[in-house]
Amino acid sequence: MPNFDSPDDVLHGACLCGAVAYRAQGPLFATSHCYCNMCQRQHGSVGSYGNVRVDGFVLERGAAELTHYQRSPKGRCGFCSVCGSMLYWCGTETPERIALALGCLAPGWTGKVEREWFVEHKPAWLPPA
Ligand SMILES: [Zn+2]
Ligand SMILES: [Zn+2]
Repeated sequence: MPNFDSPDDVLHGACLCGAVAYRAQGPLFATSHCYCNMCQRQHGSVGSYGNVRVDGFVLERGAAELTHYQRSPKGRCGFCSVCGSMLYWCGTETPERIALALGCLAPGWTGKVEREWFVEHKPAWLPPA
């Protein structure tokens, strides 16, 4: 059961169509659900993330398909221009880390997220915590 809590763990992720794939060195840390309006619109749901160190992130496939969107002065997102999968978020205030969208990890992460952001925007349609 992968919980990616060791520096020896290697995480793998990909978009829905498979054009873009990456690997990243563990550990996965600072996991969260984000309910901000930007994440909701970007994901079509809520944003669920786990961070890795940016220097351990390697794009394995899809440099031509991977597209970035500067969604605010605080950060930009990486997504697949073919299938639209939202792959990660990079914050300007935390350039040493990259927030991977948990749903694109394969195999998936089996832990529980540590925190919730912007709970005042948490949608009523989510199940209770
Ligand atoms: Zn894709
Ligand atoms: Zn957010």
